[in-house]
Amino acid sequence: MGRLIESANMERFFTIMQKPVHSEDELMTKLRDAIACVEDELNVGRVMLQLSVKQSKLRAQSENMSCTLYHRPGICGCKPVGFSFRTGEGDIINITFYPRGEVVWDDEEKRDIHVIAYQLFISFRLESVQDLLKTAIKTDLAVGIPNVSGYMDFVIRLFSNKRLEHYVGVYFNIHNFKYVNKILPYEHADEVMKIYANRLLQELERDEIVARLGGDNYVALIREENANRFFEIINDMETTYHYENEIRKFHFSATIGAAKLFDVKDAGDVMTRISIAYQVARQLEKNEPVFFSEDFYADIMRQKEIIARFQRSLEMQEFVIYYQPKVNAEDKSLCGAEALVRWNTQGRMLFPGEFIPILEKDGSICRLDFYVLERTCELLRECMATGLKMPRISINFSRKHIGNPDLAREIISIIDKHKVPHQFIEIELTESEDFKDYVVMAEMIRQLKEQGISTSIDDFGTGYSSLNMLKMTTIDLLKIDRSFIPREEDYPNKKKDCIMFENIANLAKSLGYKVVVEGVETQNQFDYLKAVGCDIVQGYFFDQPLSVDKFLKRVAIGTYQ
Ligand code: C2E
Ligand code: MG
Ligand code: MG
Repeated sequence: MGRLIESANMERFFTIMQKPVHSEDELMTKLRDAIACVEDELNVGRVMLQLSVKQSKLRAQSENMSCTLYHRPGICGCKPVGFSFRTGEGDIINITFYPRGEVVWDDEEKRDIHVIAYQLFISFRLESVQDLLKTAIKTDLAVGIPNVSGYMDFVIRLFSNKRLEHYVGVYFNIHNFKYVNKILPYEHADEVMKIYANRLLQELERDEIVARLGGDNYVALIREENANRFFEIINDMETTYHYENEIRKFHFSATIGAAKLFDVKDAGDVMTRISIAYQVARQLEKNEPVFFSEDFYADIMRQKEIIARFQRSLEMQEFVIYYQPKVNAEDKSLCGAEALVRWNTQGRMLFPGEFIPILEKDGSICRLDFYVLERTCELLRECMATGLKMPRISINFSRKHIGNPDLAREIISIIDKHKVPHQFIEIELTESEDFKDYVVMAEMIRQLKEQGISTSIDDFGTGYSSLNMLKMTTIDLLKIDRSFIPREEDYPNKKKDCIMFENIANLAKSLGYKVVVEGVETQNQFDYLKAVGCDIVQGYFFDQPLSVDKFLKRVAIGTYQ
């Protein structure tokens, strides 16, 4: 047995080695102190540590480092003893001991040194496992760059050092990554994501960060002077990937929200600002970065509030339905009405423009449309029971319903539940930007027509491919948007508006659709519309949207003077 193993110095060595440490510096000091306990007995002059860390899930790049762990002043011998240890992850730690002066170690001493080296390795390994765990918590394991927790650490550090104001916060979403997922198997798509993330890393300065939030969402903190270049990179990034003997090229751009970071009150502000800017960028569908402003904040908060309060308001019956009469142009009789919703909430009456676009984005509009249909059916049923001759009422159905293959069936079942004859309901649909939606819409319109329920295209002319829509569907009525009515001052000289309007109306009529014009405000407009053959008119000239009571009184009168 070696003399060192039994010595009091070795005991001291082990005691020091067991001390916990909290930083890399503390670890180095501990190892140095431990070696100092045995240096005299072993005649150690210098101990070198060389670390070779492989690239892994936790490390985007491999790393090599070497350092002097211990050095005693004086000349070192030229017969070092080295030990090489390998970790489970494949990292290599080499520890080399140099003797003092002319000392040459015998085999027994070399065995003692081996024991010391092994202890150093274990300690180093233990600390680096803890380090790895800490890194793991802050790393996106799929691509090997920081995750949101790593990002927030970085933000907090800059915030405490009062350096945030020199940075721009960025939140971005890669466009077209879906395409990569479609054409490559999952694990290969992940590789492309790794290449993308590494490409971003290469662009960063040492004091900048990019982190993955998950999916194709990223955040970054970039020094102000580098921000424009960073935006250019993420908006125009080309990546190549070898798959099945082919080189695949991908081109990525991004939706970018950004925020300047002066006046940040706490580190959490950064995430709030950049995510709001990102949400606005997504809504605006802009190709350039959208920078945070306080107005956005108020806007997004209002949207969030509307979405949050919607369901409860629906249950509390805060949505009220107004009915705007439709008038037969020929004899000015009331021939229909349109249900238009308002939101009576917190002492205010909100108009559709204030909440419908928000409910559309969130999808809750579908529930509201069914609610309006349901209440309208109830009204029709009640009024019919009193003997009042009710007109057909049209209900607006958002294009958000397109994804629902059962829409026609659901509409019919609500109407039937209230025992309302089908001819009393008309469904107003708006055009869609997506051509394949026409096929779905055409089928839905067909199913409704088969059941005697009329359909109309609302806001005709303001949407997308209006003429395609006309060709593919079998609607009953076409509602021409009020922006197409030739304006008052256009009569009789300004010809262009009239030519357009009359041709749209003639086209619709030749295809067999009744023409409804909405937004009629003056006698002049009405006379013109009647003269050019419009069938039905609707607008303030006759009535504004009316509360139920006023509407029923109007229905009872039945005609306009
Ligand atoms: P819309 O379906 O095109 O309805 C016609 C809009 O024009 C209504 O606005 C109506 O009040 C307004 N209007 C009618 N006559 C005149 C006029 O002479 N002059 C002017 N300047 N405006 C007139 P409202 O009620 O604010 O509704 C706006 C839009 O909100 C509707 O446009 C419709 O797209 C949507 N909307 C309303 N209720 C519902 C609903 O229950 N479901 C869905 N999905 N959308 C609805
Ligand atoms: Mg409408
Ligand atoms: Mg309209």
